[in-house]
Order: sequence, then structure tokens, then C-alpha cells
Amino acid sequence: MSEPVSLSQLENRDDFIQRHIGPDAAEQQHMLATIGATSLDDLIKQTVPENILINEQMALGEAQSEVEVLSWLKQIASQNQVNKSYIGLGYYPTHTPNVILRNVLENPGWYTAYTPYQPEVAQGRLESLLNYQQMVIDLTGLEIANASLLDEGTAAAEAMAFAKRTSKNKKSNLFFIADDVHPQTINVVVTRAELFGFEVEIAPADKVLELDVFGALFQYPNTYGDINPIEKLIAHVADSKGITTVVTDLLALTQLKTPGELGADVAVGSAQRFGVPMCYGGPHAAFFATRDKLKRSLPGRIIGVSKDSKGKLALRMALQTREQHIRREKANSNICTAQVLLANMAAFYAVYHGAKGLDTIAKRVERLTSIFVEGLKHKGIEVKNKNYFDTVAFATDSKTQIVARAQQKQVNLRTDLEGVVAVSFDETKTANDVVELFDIVFGEGHGLDVKALDKVITSQQTSGIPAEYKRTSEYLTHPVFNTHHSETEMLRYIKSLENKDLALNHSMISLGSCTMKLNATAEMIPVTWPEFANMHPFAPIEQAQGYQRMIRQLNDWLIEITGYDAISMQPNSGAQGEYAGLLAIRKYHESRGDSHRNICLIPSSAHGTNPASAQMAGMKVVVTACDAKGNVDLDDLRKKAAEVADNLSCIMITYPSTHGVYEQTIREICDIVHGHGGQVYMDGANMNAQVGVTSPGFIGSDVSHLNLHKTFCIPHGGGGPGMGPIGVKSHLAPFLPNHPVVQIDELDQANGAVSAAPWGSAGILPISWVYIALMGAQGLRKATEVAILSANYIAKRLSEHYPILYTGQNDRVAHECIIDIRPLKASSGVTEMDVAKRLMDYGFHAPTMSFPVAGTLMVEPTESEPLCEVDRFIEAMIAIKNEIDQVEKGVWPLEDNPLGNAPHTMSDLSQAEWNHPYSRELAVFPTEQARNNKFWPTVNRIDDVYGDRNLICSCPTTESYAE
Ligand SMILES: *Cc1c(COP(=O)(O)O)cnc(C)c1O
Repeated sequence: MSEPVSLSQLENRDDFIQRHIGPDAAEQQHMLATIGATSLDDLIKQTVPENILINEQMALGEAQSEVEVLSWLKQIASQNQVNKSYIGLGYYPTHTPNVILRNVLENPGWYTAYTPYQPEVAQGRLESLLNYQQMVIDLTGLEIANASLLDEGTAAAEAMAFAKRTSKNKKSNLFFIADDVHPQTINVVVTRAELFGFEVEIAPADKVLELDVFGALFQYPNTYGDINPIEKLIAHVADSKGITTVVTDLLALTQLKTPGELGADVAVGSAQRFGVPMCYGGPHAAFFATRDKLKRSLPGRIIGVSKDSKGKLALRMALQTREQHIRREKANSNICTAQVLLANMAAFYAVYHGAKGLDTIAKRVERLTSIFVEGLKHKGIEVKNKNYFDTVAFATDSKTQIVARAQQKQVNLRTDLEGVVAVSFDETKTANDVVELFDIVFGEGHGLDVKALDKVITSQQTSGIPAEYKRTSEYLTHPVFNTHHSETEMLRYIKSLENKDLALNHSMISLGSCTMKLNATAEMIPVTWPEFANMHPFAPIEQAQGYQRMIRQLNDWLIEITGYDAISMQPNSGAQGEYAGLLAIRKYHESRGDSHRNICLIPSSAHGTNPASAQMAGMKVVVTACDAKGNVDLDDLRKKAAEVADNLSCIMITYPSTHGVYEQTIREICDIVHGHGGQVYMDGANMNAQVGVTSPGFIGSDVSHLNLHKTFCIPHGGGGPGMGPIGVKSHLAPFLPNHPVVQIDELDQANGAVSAAPWGSAGILPISWVYIALMGAQGLRKATEVAILSANYIAKRLSEHYPILYTGQNDRVAHECIIDIRPLKASSGVTEMDVAKRLMDYGFHAPTMSFPVAGTLMVEPTESEPLCEVDRFIEAMIAIKNEIDQVEKGVWPLEDNPLGNAPHTMSDLSQAEWNHPYSRELAVFPTEQARNNKFWPTVNRIDDVYGDRNLICSCPTTESYAE
């Protein structure tokens, strides 16, 4: 206490590093001593192969304080000029209800949770996601919906792949796209079609009548706002057994006949305008709905209703057997991280407003549009639309003047069409805004009066929606959408769901390969600054200078960290990054006349998204073996690479490996593949074990994605958002994704887009930016070192109780370790699932279960977990081991013990009868710390099989909860 103030304290700089990193210097010493290393440096030398170790410090500058960094970023943000937007094109200004803004978007109880792999401690967000599905089902008029995809463009691309899987028209290889779909959607779909080898025809919608297709894509209302008659076209496609997808808008569907009623098989779109800010492109949730009979082919995650071991209704992720970890290259899609937080926001928006509120919002939007149309008519301007909901386009000779006047008033219109101006209305616009628009279109003194125009519309009952397209069916009739309309009730509903979920604000979430580190509040604050939140992704680039500067800076930092030459910020998740990276590899080979190179080598230990992405990129997967120590079997790799040499496209390899080990032979692996003319794709999910000590570029890889939502502090949001930018060496840089609406740098316009927005989910990039700025080069390296220290500390302490599956040189693990439950299972009958569920009784979220090895748990503590928490976790694991011993010894029968019965609920505790051979106390308060900081799972163990056999993916009635 009595130490004098040091100079560095006066500068107040490394303050944040010490708060991001859990263990302090003394604790680190204790941990080092436990594992037998003298210093962090010594540990790194013992752990990381010498031939990949980088000793120079990264050129990232010094750590800075939170105050400094936030004021620096504020100054950058202020270079964004946020105009009033009428651009539309799939992105609309919206009022995020404040109760949702503060209690969901800005609330760590919601944003720090993980994908609900452990449903017993995730019933809150599962219920909210089920609401999302119900909302989409109701509004689209279809029978089943998933719980979010990454954006509208990729949802449409998924729909094309879905059409190919499910269409009975097996002889056609042609996919039709109406030319009045948003340009970015068309582009994303076309990019994907090329990789799949589908033919595509883009033409006026009617053209489909002359074609025999396996699938067709229409937009309703279309990109110009027209409510186009598409039933005949849908019927034609159905006649030839094709699958029709309709891109649509949820707000419009409150007023329009549904895609389901029009006969469509699939509806996709974005839920952005349901309360999620535009954020310069994302993150937003996309939706995907279809017919019940096609449900097993649905891409993405589906929430289903099941029951728990006591027969109580409980929710879970359904049909996981369709997903990448099991089906790998045969999976329905490569979607892993989705957009859970944003789907939850949209669902809450619907819960908050209800059917009536949404109807009012939509009717206001339609009325404002009608008034605007009426005004144009008065002035002799005919709109191009036959019909409309919120968007109209009109031809004009005075486009230049109109655009100039709009600019002066800080208003953005849609102007990308020759001789045409289009405007899209939204819930934030008012009658005064229509007056302003008239001023812009006609100049002041136009004499138009909104009240008078409104009178004309009311008396003549003018509507942009033709009678035969008016919606008559009900929607959002479920009680959840009709209960929580006062702010008090809404607040309590949000809180009641939050209480059911275990997130990082309760305890450590040691999910291996997921890097659940601190998402510091300072990192989150800029996300909701209006300068960042309210920017339209297609706003003129000179208005987005703040964003551009922030993105460029982050680019430069990531280049320094990865050792690559260029970065693309477009992919919205790690899996999308894989897809974009493989696409670049493919284009590179093509550019050299090597189009035949289409084999992708993937070690058997790889994450499931790797083979799924390779399949999407039109590659053939050849699996290479791992040896007994979990390392890539070099002989097998050499053999297989040689066998396919002429056709070798690339290898996908994770480093450190998914087994949590720095493989010694990584450089050799790169050399073998390069030697046969292949490229190296290094999955960067494990970058948290590389930053500052090595880098993919230095190791010899050609391209990687970075999960900014793992290593670089973007919170997981309960299963998204994420960002998966890719880094590439210079020879791949010309093949990075471009964008059809906003040109990116000097990239070739022919390069297709992989996301709907040019810089992906740009709105969450400030999080990673702030993290790097706060940590500086030294802090980042320290984070890596402590992450490795912490994993080795856990491995060391638990190794006396459980086998640790794989280790590298000097018996060290990287940033995570695998605990093998299989021997215990063999001797006691207790499973890895039992251990995972029992951890809940101790107040912990389970580690990653059965990935990458079935029957194991993979633990990744990260640098952020304080030693006391790490110790508590270790003690819980040791206590659980003692419980397993009791089962093994026969003290507790296998059918009735605290492990098999876990998790225990409050309801278990309060049963009058207690007929178990262990006490209630042991059931729910197995340790003092569990008692002091109890987390109550709200349901007992959930029956997965029952849920998949009896698949229900819509909201159950309130009564069924009571049963
Ligand atoms: C998380 C992860 C991915 C997928 O990333 P998403 O962002 O979830 O799509 C890929 N590979 C590995 C090794 C991962 O851990």
C-alpha cells in the first residue's frame, strides 16, 4: 500500500491489461510454479516449437487507457456523417425500443452467453429464439423456420442450395433469379452458384415461365418496391417440381398476403428493421422458413420443443444430426455461428409491439408512402411502381438537382438506377419528413400540403396494396406476443428469460475452441454510438469516413498480428471466412490455368465447418489421418498429397490443432502441400494461442480466417454475432470478395460478394479495434502467454484425477486441453454427458463436449479467468471425480446417483419425498461456493431423442408449460 506512484501509473497505460488478464503477477508465479516453469517466457519456449517462435514485438504500439482509447475512437466516429436514410435496399432505420437496447443489446446477461449447447442452462434464449421462429412462421405463412442465418444474401444462397437438395426436378441444373431482387442478394447467390456448378439465369421474373428450373428466386415486394404478382410464376416452377424462394420483408408481410399463401416453398429475408440498428451492414439476423415436409433439409439451427427427464416441457436445438460436426461435408450448410443476439432483439421487438403494434407501424409506413406518391402525382410525376408498400421509384430529369438538395439537407436517397430516384420509408419517418422530401424533389415553394394529401387518400381509400394482395390471415396470436406490451411487463419478461441462462456474468464458460474471454464493457460501448449504429451500408463512402478509418486501422493491426498481406472484412463468421478463403484459393488456381485443382485435404480432427465449407466451395474432401498422439500423420499426409498431387487445391489445418497442441511439424505440413502446388488454409479459430508468439503468415500459411468473436473479444451473443475476416498472402489478395453496390479498394468488380454488406458486420468491428488499442503489442502477447499458462495449469492439476488426452513437446498443451472421460466411462458407466450436466449443479457451464474427440471434454480457460475461478472449476472437477468413484465402488447405483440425475432443479429440492441414495444438499449445493453463488438450471436433463422424433419448432401453448 505504501509504494510510491510510478511513472507508468502517471501515464495510466497498462491498467487495462491487468484487468483483461485474470491472474495477477503473483498468481501467475504460483501457476508457473505449479506446472514447473520459471517464467512465462520459459513456458512459451517449452511449449511453442522453436522454428515458429517470433521474438520481436509486434508493431502495434503501446497499450492505452480506456479513457484515451474511447476518446480516440469517438473522434474517429465523429468523421461519420449519419444522414437520414431513404436508401432501403434491405436496410432501414428503426427505433430500437429502449427497454431492448439497454436490457438485451447492452446487457452481458444476453451478449456474453454461448450457443445453447447446454440447454438446461439456456432456456431463456431458447425461448426467445422459439419466439423468433414463431414470428417468422406467422409472418411468412410457412410452417417451419430456423433461428437465424447470417444475412439476407447468404440466406438466399442457402435457399438455392436447399432447392437443389430438395427439388424433385433432378434433370435441371438451372437456377432462376428474377432481376428485381436486391443487387447484393443476386451477387451473393451468383457467387455461390458458380462454385456449386449451377447454371443461373437472371431475367425479368416472367421469363421463368419459359424455363425448366430446379429452383427460382423472387423478391416480394421487389427491389423497386413493387408488390409483384408472382403466384403464377410460383405455380409454374412447382409444376416442373422446382422449389421457389421468395425474398421478403417482415414488416410488409403484416399487410401483404404471405409467401406461404402465394404457394412459395421458402421465404428468406432480414429481420433487421425489427429493432436492430443498420450498423453499416450488420450484424442482423436473417430468417429462413419453409414447408414442414422439407424440415430435415433446413440449413442453420432450429430450436425445438422437447421434455426433460421429469416430463416437463423444455427447449433445445433440434436435429443436430444434420449439422457439420456429424455430417461434415454432407451437412446441410456450414453455418455455425449465426446471429442469435440479433434474432433475440427482433423477437423481443415483436413481443413488445405485438400484432397490433406492428400493424400500426406498418400502416403508418404505408400511409407516408401513399402521401408521398399522391404528392408526386399532383405534380404530374408518375411513379414506376404499379403497387407499393414502403418503397417507390420515379423517373426524373432533375436527378442531379434532387440529389444536390438531398445532400444539403443530409438526406440519402436511392440513386443507383439511371434517371431514377427511389425512396424507402420506415418507422422512424414522420409527416414532416414527407414535407422535407417534397422540398428535396421539387425545391421549396412546391405548395404541397401533407394534411390535404392525406385527406385525399383517406377519402378515396387509396392504398399501394392491391385488394387481392391484402393480408387477411391473423399473425402473432400466441399469448407471448399479446402480453408484454407495458414496459414494466416487457422488462420483467426479458429479465425472467435472462435469469434462466448461464452467461459469462455468472461464471467461467470453459468451452474449448470457443475462447470465452472477457468482453470488456469499454469494448462494447462504441457499438451503440449513433455514429456507428445508424449508418446505412450503402451510404456514400465520403459519409462513412469514420468507419473507413476504423476499418483500415483494424486491417493494419490484423495484418501485423497475422503476418499476412491483406485482409477482407466481409465474412460474417468463421465458417463464412473459410468459404471466402477457399473461394480465393479456387480463383487463384483458375487464374493460373489450374481449374482442375479441386481436392481439399482435411485432417480427421478438423472442425466440422472445414469439410462443410470445402464442399460449398466446390471441392472434394480427402480426409487425412491423425496419429496416436493426435497429430497430423505426416506419412499419411505425404501419401495422400502425392496421390492427388495434380489435383491438389489446398489443405485446411487448424493451428494449434483442435487437439490443443502446437504440432511440431506444422512447417513441414505447409511444405508438403506447397510442394504439390497446393495452398494452405489455416483455420484461425485458435489464434488466441498465436497472437504475439507466432503467426499464420510466419508459419507459412496462405490464408486464414480470424474469429473476431473468439480471440478479439466480440461477445458470442448466445450464438452470434461474429466476424470472420480473412487474411491472405499477396498472391491471393486479388481474389478477395468485392461488392456489387459499394466498390472495395482496388478489387476487381468481377469478384463476387460472400456477404450482403461490403464490410460484413461492420458495427461490431469497434469491439476488436478497442481491444487491440487497449492491449497494445505487449498486452496481446501477455494475453496469449497467460491463456497458455492457464490451460497448462488446469491440465497439470486435473491430470492427477483425469487423463489429459493430448500434449505436445515437454508435455505441454496449448491454450486448451482435452480431458478424457472414456476410461472412467468404461469403469463406472458415468458418461461425459453426466459430467457436463453435473457441472451445472456446481454452477459451471460444461466445457466443449465430444469435440474433437467423442467421450471427452475440452477446456479452454482463456487469459481472462481469474485464478480463483479457475481453481473453483478445478475443485468442482475433482469433486465430480470423487463422485464418479462412488459410483464405480457401488456406493451409488448407476441408475440413481447425482451425476446421472444432474442437473438438479429447485423443484427437485422442494419435493416432499426424496428417495435418492444421496442428500438433497449434495444434489444442489455440492460445494460451499455453489451454495454462495447458486445457479439454478430451470429444467432437468433434456430428452434429445424425444425432441427429434416429435419435432415441434413453434411456440407451445401456455397451458402446455403448466402440465
Ligand atoms: C469456431 C470454429 C469455427 C467456426 O467458426 P464460426 O464463427 O462459428 O463459424 C471453425 N473452426 C474452428 C476450429 C472453430 O473453433
